[in-house]
Amino acid sequence: MHRICLLLALCGGAHLAHAQTLISQDDLDIAAQLRDRALNSDMAYQLLESLTVEVGPRMAGTPGDAAGVAWAKKTFEALDYDQVALEPVTFPLWRRGAESAEVTAPYPQPLAVTALGFSPGTGPQGVEAKVVHFGTLHELAQIEDGSLNGEIVFISNQMERTKTGEGYGPAVVARRDGSTVTAAKGGSAVMIRSVGTDNNRTPHTGTMRVEPGQAAVPAAALSNPDADLLVAMLERGDVTVKLSLDVGIDGEGLSHNVIGDIKGSDKADEFVIIGGHLDSWDLGTGAVDDGFGVAITMAAGRFIAEHAPRPPSRTIRVVAWANEEQGLWGAKAYYEAHKDQLEKHLVGAESDFGAGRVWAFASRVNKAALPVIGQIHSVLEPLGIELGNNAAFGGADVLPLRAAGMPVVSLYQDGSDYFDYHHTANDTLDKVDPEVMRQNFAAWVAFTWLAANYPGTFSPAPVIE
Ligand SMILES: [Zn+2]
Repeated sequence: MHRICLLLALCGGAHLAHAQTLISQDDLDIAAQLRDRALNSDMAYQLLESLTVEVGPRMAGTPGDAAGVAWAKKTFEALDYDQVALEPVTFPLWRRGAESAEVTAPYPQPLAVTALGFSPGTGPQGVEAKVVHFGTLHELAQIEDGSLNGEIVFISNQMERTKTGEGYGPAVVARRDGSTVTAAKGGSAVMIRSVGTDNNRTPHTGTMRVEPGQAAVPAAALSNPDADLLVAMLERGDVTVKLSLDVGIDGEGLSHNVIGDIKGSDKADEFVIIGGHLDSWDLGTGAVDDGFGVAITMAAGRFIAEHAPRPPSRTIRVVAWANEEQGLWGAKAYYEAHKDQLEKHLVGAESDFGAGRVWAFASRVNKAALPVIGQIHSVLEPLGIELGNNAAFGGADVLPLRAAGMPVVSLYQDGSDYFDYHHTANDTLDKVDPEVMRQNFAAWVAFTWLAANYPGTFSPAPVIE
């Protein structure tokens, strides 16, 4: 028994029985050593460089995505993971061809535009119509159904820049539902201001939502400066735009979750599950979203296996998730394939919030395990990481597991500039600062080691709506 447990047992009453399991001082010391060593390692950056240079864009179901899966498999093997598995993931295959928009009257000029994922196409003739302007999706939703007469809807609200990314939620509703709401109102197409915080002429793509049987119109995002331009024209009077999108759903796509396991010693059938999503959008090379998270977590498993003085107690499972961008298809497939082993998943987390510094460590665990979260935080604190609350997000790809009760943690990153590049052609390797990546890497290595060796449980996690 560890000396802190003894202390608790001696000092506390019977109600402390559940709080006795802590991480050993030996494992805390090993974590600190791994952390400091990882701070001087470029292993994660080298993997990201390899992925962006040798594969590049990885939109789900494209040849680039298949090349990404092959890269992940080959890389896990080269990193000496004990077991590497591919698990199939299917989804509607959306393809992007040529896309363009132009003002045809009264001030003819081109607009920088990109289609939203799952948008239907305009047909080869394109859609040309008068533009009707709404400040928000909510304003559009207020008008009577069928009250538009084939106009192109333009929704102009601007996403707010924040460290936490909280500006994304209020802005992204226009991207998600603009197409179907426009269809219900009688519009012929929709253009939104990009959900992004930059002022570059790089429109931001991203998925929209269409329920089965729901009507949808062609949908595209204008870059922020092009949205400003259109607003200025509309202040002068009527504007006509022509939108041409050669896009649409074309059968079923196939990809794979790529899973690498570093085998545990005495609890090999229990997992700490970490990862990032392997798919990206097609416009950039997916360095920031989410090659960064894939590279850090793939490197973390290897780094621990290589540099820890003994194998981890539990298995470290790293998942390069398939098709996160178009609706968590890989996450849902993993859940379906592994839901009977749910209780074997001790804790999960995903790195998927750009390339900023980690500034907070948050959990979603049984309150009785919060002292353990405090122990983990003590190893992260020298990296400039605060202790967050017990309502962690965990990451998009662990949501199905989280919803079924798996505890999660978040290593929250500073997202102040994430939405300058998110889903744009500007999502490239030069946006990644190797020093910041090492800080992230050190945090993930330390957390993963500690979780894999913590002898207790984090369950049951609190249910938070
Ligand atoms: Zn992402």
